[in-house]
Amino acid sequence: MTQPRFSIVAPAYNEEQVLPEFYRRLQEVMDKLGEPWEMVLVNDGSRDRTPQVMRTLHAQDPRVCIVDFARNFGHQIAVTAGLDHARGAAMVTIDADLQDPPEVIPELIARWKEGYQVVYGVRAEREGETWFKLFTAKLFYRLIGALTDVDIPLEAGDFRLLDREVVQELRRMREHRRFLRGMTSWVGYRQVGVPYLRHARFAGETKYPLRKMVRLALDGITGFSDLPLKLASSAGFVLLGLGLLVGLILLGLRIAGSMPLAGQGLAVTVALLLCGTQLVFLGIIGEYLARIYDEVRGRPLYTVQELVGFDEQDEPSQNATTSEEKCYGSES
Ligand code: UDP
Ligand code: MG
Repeated sequence: MTQPRFSIVAPAYNEEQVLPEFYRRLQEVMDKLGEPWEMVLVNDGSRDRTPQVMRTLHAQDPRVCIVDFARNFGHQIAVTAGLDHARGAAMVTIDADLQDPPEVIPELIARWKEGYQVVYGVRAEREGETWFKLFTAKLFYRLIGALTDVDIPLEAGDFRLLDREVVQELRRMREHRRFLRGMTSWVGYRQVGVPYLRHARFAGETKYPLRKMVRLALDGITGFSDLPLKLASSAGFVLLGLGLLVGLILLGLRIAGSMPLAGQGLAVTVALLLCGTQLVFLGIIGEYLARIYDEVRGRPLYTVQELVGFDEQDEPSQNATTSEEKCYGSES
């Protein structure tokens, strides 16, 4: 296969209903550009027929390559694996559920040709999302903005074009708790946003339940800010000061001879309050500790069961797993 100029990188978890349409829409858009392209589909340990559907697509069109994970590793890792294996000069990461319209890709490419190395989609509007998702998303973007040191653009998801140079930098960042939005902001380079309309899912349901959204938010915050850790000491000092003050007042009242108000209720309330505060901060420390533990174990980011459609002579991926040995070349 000739070196593709563009790579489309899409993670998929249980997307059997969506993939054929995804391929059709993308192929239509990409073929119009008249330059060689490839599609890197990452099967993130799907439990439905997603891997079979991917292989059918590959059989029809050898430009479709597959990274088949040995289990589910989550969206951010799946996108990472796709970027590790993609070979284009520009790579576009896009969800497989057609929420990000493929028709916007030529616009991203146009900005890339103007010299921008990161062109990220900005959700100008969102269709078919619950008010709860919109509200929590907004809250999340504000929180991230307020807490982190890097400038993460508001309302930018994981639909973006990355120049190979930027991807090479990202490949060097092997942190486990990944927040790609933050990481792409962190690397710098010339960046620009392109507004687009985020559609409703083509089929199936969201694979991002609240639990995973909270996880991503925590990874984003802990990965790019140590403010929460510092918060503990500030709060500690405030509480300590307060405690001293109350102690002094009680002592003063005692000396003056009047019995201080010593209701049991008050004591219990104060105890609970302090206990709660301490546990919250212990939890925050735990979050960071878990991150450190994750990193020091030094495990690979993902394990690959099979690679389909990547030739042996291709650029080696940066992933530290044994995936290369397991690379199965195909007829392409
Ligand atoms: N996805 C994945 N692994 C997961 C969860 C999701 O690869 O563990 C993929 C999913 O197939 C989709 C993309 O990530 O292509 C975004 O997920 P989803 O549409 O469910 O999230 P939402 O758009 O609702 O935030
Ligand atoms: Mg989606």
